[in-house]
Formats: sequence, C-alpha cells, structure tokens
Amino acid sequence: MFGYAGKMLRVDLTSGQIQYDTLKEEMINSFLGGAGFATSIIYNEVPPLTPSLSPQNKLVFAIGPVTGTRWFGSSRWVVASKSPLTGIWGEADSGGFWAAELKHAGFDAIVVEGASDKPVFLWVSDGKAEIRDAKGLWGLTTTETEREIKSDCGRRTRVVSIGPGAENLVRFACVIESGHAAGRSGMGCVMGYKKLKAIAAVGDGMPEVADPDELKKLRDQWVEARLERVKARTGMTTLRAQYGRGAHLERGLERHNLPLGNWSLDDWGYDSARAISTDTMAETVQTGMRVPTCWNCPVHSDTMVKIESGPFAVEECVGPEYETLASYGSLLLNDNLESICKANDLCNRYSMDTIEAGTTIAMAIECYENGILTKEDTGGIELTWGNSEAIVEITEMIARRKGFGMVLAEGVKKASEIIGKGADKYAMHVKGSSICEHDPRINPPLALKYATLPMGAYHGKGCPDIPVEATSTQVIERQNIAEVVDSLGVCGATSGRFFSPDRTMTFGFVPDILKAVTGIDFDERKLMEIGERIFTMKRAYITKLGVSRKDDRLPARFSEIPRVVEGVELLADVESLLPSYYNLRGWDENGIPTIDKLNELGIKPL
Ligand code: SF4
Repeated sequence: MFGYAGKMLRVDLTSGQIQYDTLKEEMINSFLGGAGFATSIIYNEVPPLTPSLSPQNKLVFAIGPVTGTRWFGSSRWVVASKSPLTGIWGEADSGGFWAAELKHAGFDAIVVEGASDKPVFLWVSDGKAEIRDAKGLWGLTTTETEREIKSDCGRRTRVVSIGPGAENLVRFACVIESGHAAGRSGMGCVMGYKKLKAIAAVGDGMPEVADPDELKKLRDQWVEARLERVKARTGMTTLRAQYGRGAHLERGLERHNLPLGNWSLDDWGYDSARAISTDTMAETVQTGMRVPTCWNCPVHSDTMVKIESGPFAVEECVGPEYETLASYGSLLLNDNLESICKANDLCNRYSMDTIEAGTTIAMAIECYENGILTKEDTGGIELTWGNSEAIVEITEMIARRKGFGMVLAEGVKKASEIIGKGADKYAMHVKGSSICEHDPRINPPLALKYATLPMGAYHGKGCPDIPVEATSTQVIERQNIAEVVDSLGVCGATSGRFFSPDRTMTFGFVPDILKAVTGIDFDERKLMEIGERIFTMKRAYITKLGVSRKDDRLPARFSEIPRVVEGVELLADVESLLPSYYNLRGWDENGIPTIDKLNELGIKPL
C-alpha cells in the first residue's frame, strides 16, 4: 500500500482498550482519506441522535494519502464529530506538522471512543499507541502542554492539544498545534468532555510512494506554475508569503467585503481598517522571526508578533490571520491591533475558535448598545463597540466560564437564546455556526455556499474567494472538490488552482498526484463522485436531525441591510437559488437527498 500508513487506531477511553485496524481497500476507493474517512466513520458509527457530549459520540482524526509525503503543503489533518456547538455535523481542519508525524508514526486515522474519568493523553509512535496519565497537564494552556509533552517524549514529538477553554467545555473550543487551530464546530469541546488533553505523535515511517520521481516532477511543475502566478501578481520571485496570513483590511473595506459592527454598517473609515491591517502589523508588533509553518511547505505563512508591555502584552507568538483581524477587529469596531493580538493569543492558548468568539462578543455588544444587556448582566463590563479592554477581558471570562462568560461560552446562537429579549436578531450564524468574515451580500455564490454547507457557515470548503459569476453548478463543483482536497491531506491555500473554473488545467492535476503517491488510478470523474458522496452523506446525516430547506438561510440582516457598491444596493438572496441547487444535487424540494441519489452514490440510508 503506497501513500497510506495502512492502519487505523481505535481508542476506547472508557475501557482503556486500544485496537489496531487494517485500512480497507473499500474505504480508500469510496472515501480516499482525511475528510472522507472521518465522514464515513461518523455517519456509520454515531447515530444522529447521539448527544454530542456523551461517551457514545466519537471523535475522528484523519489524514490523507498525500499527507506527510514530499508533495507541496501536504500538511493537513481533519477532525470530525457530532458538534457540541451546533448539534449537527462538526468538522475542522488544520495544517502544521502533526499530521505528517501521525503518518510517520504509522496511522491514517484515530477514532476516539468513550470518555475517560480522569485526564489522559494519547501517545502514538511507530505503529503503537498508549493512553497516558495527563493529571499534571490538566489546566495548562496549549503552549504549556506542548512544551511539557515535548520535554517528556522528545523534541521531535508533535502535539495537538486543548487548553482550559476546552476543559471548561466552551462549546466552540478548538484543537491547537503551535498556534494552528482546527477551529470550527467545537471539536476541542468534545476532547475536553472525553478528558483527552492531547495526542502526541512521533515516528520514523516516512510513507513509501509509488513513483517518487514522478511525484518530484509533478511537484516541480506545480511550484514553477505557482511561482509564475505569484510573479505576475506581485513581482516576487519566492513563494514565501510576504504578509503571512494577515491581509490588507483597507482593501477589504474598499471592496465592501469586511464585516463592520456585526455586519450592520457599510463603512468604518480607512484609518481604522489600516490600523489593524497587515502593513501596520509589520511596522509595529511583528518580529522579524519567520518560522517554518507547515510540513513541506515553502510558503511559511505564519508571522510572529510580540508586545513588550501594556495591557495587551504578549510573549512572541503566532500573529492573527485575516479571519481573526476581522472577527476581533472590524466586526467589533475595534481598531486596537495590540488587543487583537492579545485576544488571538488567548484563544490559541485556551483553545477557542476566534471566529465564533468574535461573533458571540459582537452579538453581546449589540445587545448592550441596544439596552438588552446592562452592566448588571455583564458583571460591570462595558460591552461597547471598540472597547478593546472589555473585549479582551470577556474573552478570558469565556474561557474560564466566569460570570457573564458562562453565557457567551455557549456560542452565538445558544447565548442569544439565553439572553432572550430579541437578542437572536443579532446572532449572525448559519445552523448555529457563526458567519466567517467575507460578506455574502457582495457575492451570491458565497451566500449559497454558506447556506448549504452541512456544518454551517465556513470560509474553507471551497475557498472564500469564489468568483461572483459562479453558477450553482460551479458552487456544487467547488463544494465537492473541497471534500476531495480535504481528503487528500493537502492545504487549500496551496491548492487554490484546484478550484479554478477551468478544471482541466487544474483539478486535472490531482489524478496524476494520486497515481504517483498511491499507484492507484483515480480519474477525475471518480474523484468528483467521491467528493459528492462525502458531501451528500453529511447532508443526509443532518437531515435526520431535522435540518431542511428552512435552515439553508442566512441571518435576516443580510437581506435587510444592504452593502452599497458603486451606488447599487446589494442584498443576499439565497432562497431563490435553492430550488435549482437542490435539483442539481438530486435532493427533493425540501433539501433532503432522495433515495435514488443515495443509491447512486452507494450511501446506506440512515
Ligand atoms: S500555505 Fe501556509 S497554511 Fe498552507 S501549508 Fe503552506 S504554510 Fe501551511
């Protein structure tokens, strides 16, 4: 078996049993890897009505056939479970070095079952696994946890872990490796419930690929093509990211893409956007240090920041990327860059999703500004627009579930329901998952994508920069291709060309990569069918939880408050796009996959 490690690990934290399963060919042919493996396991083994925080819920970590090889950006891992945030499909993905190390340690997937009654961590190395005591690690931040495990198990060990936010069952807690977050859906909360503090991996089993020379040739071709593109766009002759994962927020402001005041405004002022933009970051808080960000990727997209003193002092740490600059910045009308760096660092250390955290705080601020919340409710905190000290303070309180933080730790949808008095109109989410920081009003295909993703709104799964002229057919194509990319184990940021409308020049590359890695012929048609199968299974799963057409919609604000672009008022209209979308997907008029469609894709109905 080339590319794959060939083994899946099953760990029952209730009984302490560990099982080593051989990876089945059928699994590879139908699901490819990563997101596909995780989807198949959750769909088949976790009945939809299983409570998210229960020993019966499972947590699946999975990587792809390309992960950990010499392919460019082959750094990705996926984690899936039933979400404690939304109660439906939960999934997140990340890069870094852990995924490659898991492959080298001999596993393609880890299925975590049951729940431990005391803190533990999982250690995997060279085809073996052990459940180890984590009493001394409980309560530590992710940074401290990584440091402790590495000093115990060796510097080469790579660690994904949770911090106090997840231990305290913050519903949007995430899983972190060195400042990289598998951020969405509350996968860290499931780890916290299971008392699984971390998974440490180390190994020497570099995967054998079918044709290393061909893989190298393809990689060189790919790098050359990317370099040409970068050169044409920026004049740079290196793939190293000039600005890390930050962004020019002032350009987002000009394009009307930036979220402003919980999506209620159309302008903020150039100076404010510029104050939290990537250029300002480079001129002020950014250190010169550029560290390798992910396995086998020359892009090095992390930037490091440090704030020596003051209320927002932070040690040198990974700086905020675009989503965080927006969710803790413009969304809250907060133009204090140091406070965003501080909040970002707190979220990483405590393991919390910055998008859900920012959106939940934005809802609370709007409630406060409109008299729905008072100082008594918030424990004396003045939750007003742009109050950077309050924003950082409430972030800490959420992680600790302290005072009013107890309410906000439930995430934007549930917190708004607890607050009541009409707070739900300020809760900006789809299916319980907060809107990412790209405006769907200026981009109808993005609106359709947000509304129909099984996990709720998400900027991944097909890139946020979907062309405005994309048709529903192309939205579906991108959603399916995204499932394939997340199953390959490669980074979406390096594989943007897979999503180009001209698929023959781009996605057409994937069968060649897979052939060189696995020796298996996956043609484009078969890969698209795998992508469709994965997406449809998730949809079939959530429809068993009552999700239907009524839930495929954006918050009312997007169809009530326009963005004005060159004098034209733009509003989101998903409703009118749904009939043709469902029809093209082979779902009924209520958005339920038909039996014929399930049969065609070989999906067993639930
Ligand atoms: S592009 Fe950035 S996030 Fe993607 S693999 Fe490379 S360094 Fe990691």
